[in-house]
Amino acid sequence: MQLNENILKLEQNYLFAEIALRVRHFREAHPEAEILSLGINDVTRPLAPAVSAAMADAAREMQDAGRFHGYGDVQGEPFLREAIAAYYRSFHVSIGAEDVFVSDGAKSDLANLCDLFAPDSAVLLPNPVYPVFYDTSVMAGRKILFANGTKENGFLPMPDPAVSADLIYLCSPNNPTGAVYSRAQLRQWVGYARAHNACIIYDAAYEAYIRSAALPRSIFEIAGAETCAIEINSFSKMAGFTGVRCSFVIVPRTLMQDGQSLHKLWMRRQSTKYNGTSYIVQRGAAAALSAEGQRQVRQDVQYYMENADIIRSALHRSGVFTTGGEHAPYVWMECPYHMASWDCFGLLLSHYGIVTSPGAGFGVQGEGWLRFSSFGSRETIGRAAHKLAAMDWDQLALWAVNSLHAGDD
Ligand code: PLP
Repeated sequence: MQLNENILKLEQNYLFAEIALRVRHFREAHPEAEILSLGINDVTRPLAPAVSAAMADAAREMQDAGRFHGYGDVQGEPFLREAIAAYYRSFHVSIGAEDVFVSDGAKSDLANLCDLFAPDSAVLLPNPVYPVFYDTSVMAGRKILFANGTKENGFLPMPDPAVSADLIYLCSPNNPTGAVYSRAQLRQWVGYARAHNACIIYDAAYEAYIRSAALPRSIFEIAGAETCAIEINSFSKMAGFTGVRCSFVIVPRTLMQDGQSLHKLWMRRQSTKYNGTSYIVQRGAAAALSAEGQRQVRQDVQYYMENADIIRSALHRSGVFTTGGEHAPYVWMECPYHMASWDCFGLLLSHYGIVTSPGAGFGVQGEGWLRFSSFGSRETIGRAAHKLAAMDWDQLALWAVNSLHAGDD
């Protein structure tokens, strides 16, 4: 056999597996320690009643010979695709139900979309970056270019006309930085993509967390995007589906390359490699988009955003700089005293039992930053905030220096 040499280029552990491993080691060494997790990006609120009721009804339907469902429409059941198009209309974005492909998660969608593009495509990734954008590009053997997010540009890198890319990944609201592009900025990206004949893969997984109508919730708010962009969205963070699994990809029928319709190619790919999303899950997703479902899931989003407010104000009280957390469930903190992110992560874990995500795990531009996730119970977030607000960063920095010198001889 011959291995795919590209998969050997990956870091040994996926970032969140590495964090979990370090937390496990700490827990084993200090079984008595209280651990407050603000590190992993998984939801904690239970499913909305409207969603679970719809899935229970769908499961009962399947018991009945007359209403049983076998393989469904590979693109997704029309009732759900229509509901998604109506959901987009609710924030004034016009997409066709025919352009929507329902599937089982944005992570797999991101990886699967690689099938559409030439192996030697040049990929432009933001840095810091959601690790899946990077890892799937590495596995596909792509040439990778970075657009750097910095404190100065608010972690919203803009296109450089001198850089030529075939594929551009954008994530807004952003994981890990919580930054959100404005319409004017997205217009520049769409202009760049069209000028370079590139395709934007727009990850809108956190669209539901945007709290201002002044910010765009979809790339398709931008004129021209329908000829140069694919959007990915997911029910994971909008409706607590991380364990249920349902997402969708919007591939406009107007997106063409070399006379070929990407929509048709994606349909061809899906009908070969995918057999449709569970009927029961699709009923649950449609219920999340109903008026009552939206009322319920919005309460959970609001709960997480209140958590983000609590984290931000606790960090500000301790005197550190943060960004994000206003329209995203992630608060992005600059480590004081130029501490490295894994060092700061280790100190917060060992001295306060607080788990975060080290910015360096999201790319070199994340070095010196930490991500705090607001997907916790109010109790956990409250206890962590109490410790964070009273955090003595001078003392922590001293501990960091001492632990460095401890290994000097
Ligand atoms: N895209 C981003 C930016 C994410 O942060 C995540 C999950 O954390 C995903 C996609 C994956 O979502 P899903 O649960 O639909 O696979």
